[in-house]
Amino acid sequence: MSSPDLADAGASTDLIVTNPGTGSPVGTVPSLSAESVTAMAGAVRAAQPAWEALGPTGRKHWLLTFQDWILDHAADLADTIQSESGKPRVDAEVEISFIVDLLGYWSRHAAKFLADRHPAPHTPLMRVKRLSVAYSPYPLVGIITPWNFPLGMPAADIVPALAAGAGVLLKPSEVTPLTAVRLAEGWSEIGAPPVFAVATGAGATGAAVVENADYVQFTGSTATGKKIAAACAATLTPYSLELGGKDPAIVLADADLDRAVQGIAYGALVNTGQLCVSIERVYVEASIHDRFVARLVDHVEELRVGLDGRSIEHDLGPLANDAQLAIVTRHVEQAIASGATARTGGKPTGTGTFYPPTVLVDVDHTMECMTEETFGPVIPVMKVANADEAIALANDSRYGLSASVWTSDKGRAGAIARRLFAGTVNVNDSVVNLFHYTIPHGGWGQSGTGARWGGAQGLRKYCRQQALTIPAVPTMKKELAWFPYVPDKIAILQKSMRAFAARGKRRFG
Ligand code: NAD
Repeated sequence: MSSPDLADAGASTDLIVTNPGTGSPVGTVPSLSAESVTAMAGAVRAAQPAWEALGPTGRKHWLLTFQDWILDHAADLADTIQSESGKPRVDAEVEISFIVDLLGYWSRHAAKFLADRHPAPHTPLMRVKRLSVAYSPYPLVGIITPWNFPLGMPAADIVPALAAGAGVLLKPSEVTPLTAVRLAEGWSEIGAPPVFAVATGAGATGAAVVENADYVQFTGSTATGKKIAAACAATLTPYSLELGGKDPAIVLADADLDRAVQGIAYGALVNTGQLCVSIERVYVEASIHDRFVARLVDHVEELRVGLDGRSIEHDLGPLANDAQLAIVTRHVEQAIASGATARTGGKPTGTGTFYPPTVLVDVDHTMECMTEETFGPVIPVMKVANADEAIALANDSRYGLSASVWTSDKGRAGAIARRLFAGTVNVNDSVVNLFHYTIPHGGWGQSGTGARWGGAQGLRKYCRQQALTIPAVPTMKKELAWFPYVPDKIAILQKSMRAFAARGKRRFG
């Protein structure tokens, strides 16, 4: 199974995994106790020094061998993803392409990103030293993930953490653990060092992972993120939190309407709206509002909702579980009761967890659908007088994950982006930032702290940085600053420090 073997690690109970599209059970995994997690953490920790010692090039061999294994098992992996999430074939297959791409990028760039840096001293006075910054991986990175991308969410962080030389203990969502278990099997099957293990279970298992980790990378809800931050504070364990969002889209009067309609429909509904950077509210300038809504409704009504097999037949699938269906239903019902209108969709289909794509108008910020994360196939559209009003409303949120601006004036889009409270802004696009690993992906406010990716920083975050000062010139027996203090020597030292740093006449005072 994983490495070390889950069966050996001991399990308290079993978790039954179901397909939300059919309600049928599709597998079971053990719900691991804290003791079992500690045992797994110990085994990964023991294997990590040899992994680190392989260096980026040795690790690249294993990461690219793993990439081959994933490509060889792509169809089966997509089946497993679909079996536990019910998502359309395309949404499952993109997760495979995503991990393949991540493995290629991080393994090929690790040597450059992890190489020692040699910054110049900040003043000529300090040039007596050669400075270095070295990157030393955390022995054990705990990664905790949600259910919306059973492969993609773990991959986003496992790959850079392993490439950095860390050992990884993954706690996947209890709703979708089967793909993660299969991933760990693959790592074992290729004979890679046992530095990647999967601990299945619910919140208590996740809490045990946090307790054992040297660094915690969490993706999930803001509520759970706060609990993890509190647990990490007790031990001063560093962490990064990628949390919920309520991403706004701003559509200006000069936008290419066809692109805006289709891009916003995709950004709001892909993965059935269960995406962290999903568009959750739309602000449209009054002069184009009615045309935008009419075209959006036409487009959304053409989308196909259902359960895919291996062939590509549907655009949207079911929601991932009953709890998610209840949230979506509540947000829409509450909006309609408060004066909103569903121009299409608006109530559950009545079959399993399926919810039709829904466009709401006449919405405002008294409604939960405009302020709370819905995480479902709902597009609330609000009419605004101008860009300033749109920006004010977009920023009226405790979340700040991502946003989008739709206009034919790219210069204006850039200026608006800088006024938005959001970790990422896409111009005339949505979601696409998730496929750009050279820029950071992180939320502001209650959407998180820290970030993943961002080129070199995406690997260095999984390392402790160590600063070194090494003499660059022959050393004296004694430095001017050392004991005993001698007034003349101290004066030379302090006057030179002040002279190099100060301005004008005061330099020579
Ligand atoms: P969740 O917070 O309920 O669970 C996430 C993970 O945390 C699960 O594996 C769960 O078992 C674990 N967990 C629960 N309690 C824990 C505890 N006390 N200690 C340690 N682990 C614990 O989230 P979810 O419902 O699975 O996922 C949906 C949420 O994820 C949404 O809010 C969504 O916005 C967010 N999300 C964010 C991003 C991002 O990059 N910002 C990406 C995807 C999803």
